[in-house]
Amino acid sequence: MKPPASKSSTHSEIHEIDALFEKAGLVRNLRGKAAGITRRVRFERSAPEELSRRSAAPLAAGNGVHWLAAPGWQQFPWLWHGFSTRLGGVSRAYCADDAPGELNLGFTAADSREVVARNRQLLAEAVTGDPATPLRTLHQVHSTLIRTGDVPPGCKGDGLMTDEPGVLLGVQTADCIPVLVADRKRRAVAAFHAGWRGTVERIVEAGIGRMRLEFGSRPEDLVAAIGPGIGRCCYAVGEEVLSSFESQFAYSMELFREVYDADVVRAKYPMLFLTQRAPGHSNIGPSLHLDLVEANRRQLVAAGLKPKAIKLVGGCTCCQPELFFSHRNSQGHAGRMLNVIGIRNAAARA
Ligand SMILES: [Zn+2]
Repeated sequence: MKPPASKSSTHSEIHEIDALFEKAGLVRNLRGKAAGITRRVRFERSAPEELSRRSAAPLAAGNGVHWLAAPGWQQFPWLWHGFSTRLGGVSRAYCADDAPGELNLGFTAADSREVVARNRQLLAEAVTGDPATPLRTLHQVHSTLIRTGDVPPGCKGDGLMTDEPGVLLGVQTADCIPVLVADRKRRAVAAFHAGWRGTVERIVEAGIGRMRLEFGSRPEDLVAAIGPGIGRCCYAVGEEVLSSFESQFAYSMELFREVYDADVVRAKYPMLFLTQRAPGHSNIGPSLHLDLVEANRRQLVAAGLKPKAIKLVGGCTCCQPELFFSHRNSQGHAGRMLNVIGIRNAAARA
C-alpha cells in the first residue's frame, strides 16, 4: 500500500503545478474553492415561477390610491401603516400617454415636485384619512444610518423611528425591501430601507437595537412587516453579492438559489430551436438569485422577534410591473413606492 502523501510533499506538488501554470500563462484560483459552476452545486435549484410570492389584492382607497396592508395588522387600531403600489395618483412620468395617472412618490428627475407632493398627500389620505398628515422621509443612501425626531430636508439615512403620534415615517423603494416595525407595548414605530448593501450591513438588526436604546423596546413586544420588493424569483445577483453575504451570515447558503430562467416557448417547442444552437451552447444557463425578504426576516428573528410576529406582504416589484415600480425591470427609469408607518394621533383615535 502506498503511504499517504506527507504535507510537505503535497506542498511541493502544488508548487510544481503553480510553476507549470505560470509557464502556461495561467493563474491558479487562490481562494481555495473551485470556481464557477462546480462551486454552485451547493445551492438549491428552482425555476422562477416556483419562487414567486404574490401579495394579496391591494386595498382601494376612495381617492383612487391602491395600497397593501400587512396581514393581521388591523388588530392594532392605534397604528397607521401602508405599502403603496403604482396604482392611483396623478403622475404621468412613467406611463403611456393614454394610461391613467400613477402614484410615483419619489422626487425623481423625470417627475415634477408638485405632482409627487400631491401623490404623497393622496397616500397620506388613503392611510390616515388626512392628506395633511406630516410625512418624514430621508435621502436614502444604502447605509445603516437611523434617524429619530424631526429630520431636516435632505437628511441622509435609511431608517426612521419615532414614538410621536400624528406623524408618518416613510421609506422609498423601487426593488429594495421595506421593513416596518411596531412596538405593541411602548407604542413606537420604525421604517427601514434594505437593499442588498443595507441588508449585508444589517440595518434591520441595528434598527431593532436602536429601538431598544431609544424606547426601551423589548424584541418580544415587536411586530414587523416585510413589504414588496424584488423577489427571489427575479433577483439575479453577481458573485460579489454572494461573497459579501458569505462573509457576514452563517446562514447565507439558505438565502441563495440557483435558478433556471426557462424560456417558456423554448421549453414547449424544443424542435423549433434545435437547428439554431449547438447543444451545450444555450444561453439560458442558471443564475444565482438572492432572497432579500428571507435575509431580512432572518435578521428580525436574530434580533429576538418571534417568527409569528413577522408578516410577509408578498409581491415582486420586478415581475409585477402592473402593480409596482421596479428599478431593474425598467432599466432605471422608475417611479418610487413609499412604505409608511405611524402612530394614530389622539384626535383621530377618539
Ligand atoms: Zn419576480
